[in-house]
Amino acid sequence: MSLTISNEQLQAAATQYGTPLYVYHAEKITAQHQQLQKAFEGVYTRFFYACKALTNISVLKHIQSIGCNIDCSSINEVYLALKAGFNPEQILYTSNGIAFEEIIAAVEAGVSVNIDSLSNLEKFGKAYGSRYPVGIRLRPNIMAGGNLKISTGHNGSKFGIPLEQLDDILSLKNQYQLRINCLHVHTGSEIKDVDVFIKVADIFFDLVPHFQDLQVLDMGGGFKVPYQSNEKGTDIPLLAKKVGEVLNKFETTYGKKFQVWFEPGKYLVSECGYLITSVNVIKETPSVLFAGINSGFNHLIRPMFYEAYHHIRNISNPNGPIKNYAVTGNICETDNFAWDRPINEIRENDLLVIDNAGAYGFEMGSNYNSRFLPAQVLYKEGQMRLIRKRDTMEDILKNQIELN
Ligand SMILES: *Cc1c(COP(=O)(O)O)cnc(C)c1O
Repeated sequence: MSLTISNEQLQAAATQYGTPLYVYHAEKITAQHQQLQKAFEGVYTRFFYACKALTNISVLKHIQSIGCNIDCSSINEVYLALKAGFNPEQILYTSNGIAFEEIIAAVEAGVSVNIDSLSNLEKFGKAYGSRYPVGIRLRPNIMAGGNLKISTGHNGSKFGIPLEQLDDILSLKNQYQLRINCLHVHTGSEIKDVDVFIKVADIFFDLVPHFQDLQVLDMGGGFKVPYQSNEKGTDIPLLAKKVGEVLNKFETTYGKKFQVWFEPGKYLVSECGYLITSVNVIKETPSVLFAGINSGFNHLIRPMFYEAYHHIRNISNPNGPIKNYAVTGNICETDNFAWDRPINEIRENDLLVIDNAGAYGFEMGSNYNSRFLPAQVLYKEGQMRLIRKRDTMEDILKNQIELN
């Protein structure tokens, strides 16, 4: 089965549902999950989909159906996961900077929790003591990841409890008899260098003697996917091999088997997603040739927010002569998807497809400029099915209160 969606199918979806439109390929998600499982066969691991990348309930249900677990970044995501059919044992809540009430709610839901501040850890100790196991999110002081905005492990980062405060963690652990069963580190997104994960394992290795209830080594997510044709993603088989070796070292040294958890977001859903847009205006100026499309950073913020590259194709004129375009959105401030990009000649009303748009696309979207969020479609078993309607004016006004 093909793991890409053909131009004809994308065109048909645009005709049926209009543009801008997000289309996600279910079998591509399945294939990414299988690649992980295959690479890590025989290595004691579990994978938790970091669902903040894409949370449409129908996508979550698909991910649940293929046997993947789920990692949540808010209590609302925990509730979505439960609604999608994950059982609490499959749900992990890795929090950052949250109110303690959300931790109480997560415990009541029966899910695993990673706590990332001494303050919440102390509140947890007072509330639960040893009655509920808990994970600790650590800050390892490692700089990694594609961009400072998505780098979370360095020594200026707000994420996790700094390693230097180990003594404070241990005194809370003793004071409240905390059952710390998991150590967690997520260094950031787009980590190509597998040694970053091994460095994290080395940090865990030295910490083991302090945590007698430890069972899980959670190395977070951040596997890189290729965005440009000459780019390579994280070498997953190499990572599996190295993690396998490291786990053996843990077992021989400590006489105990630890399970490694990973939280891939982008890796599972980035490549499955396409944003189909259509061209509103071609503007030829003396210096720049603009193609203005009917979307903007309110639908896909990654190029403007992270300087991310997304491949853009003209599926209406795939054999046209190549010209260089600034592909721009319609939001009233600088709003580029690409700056000086060779693309087959673009005409008004052509369909431009933005690839690799499954992760952090729709999810980071907004109604800025009072524009509608795109519709979403799931392509599964050869069928396109609507999984979210396009907004209407009613949605824009839904929670507004009109005073007279
Ligand atoms: C965002 C996030 C992830 C996933 O990152 P990706 O780059 O999408 O793989 C994993 N774990 C935590 C704690 C996160 O916040």
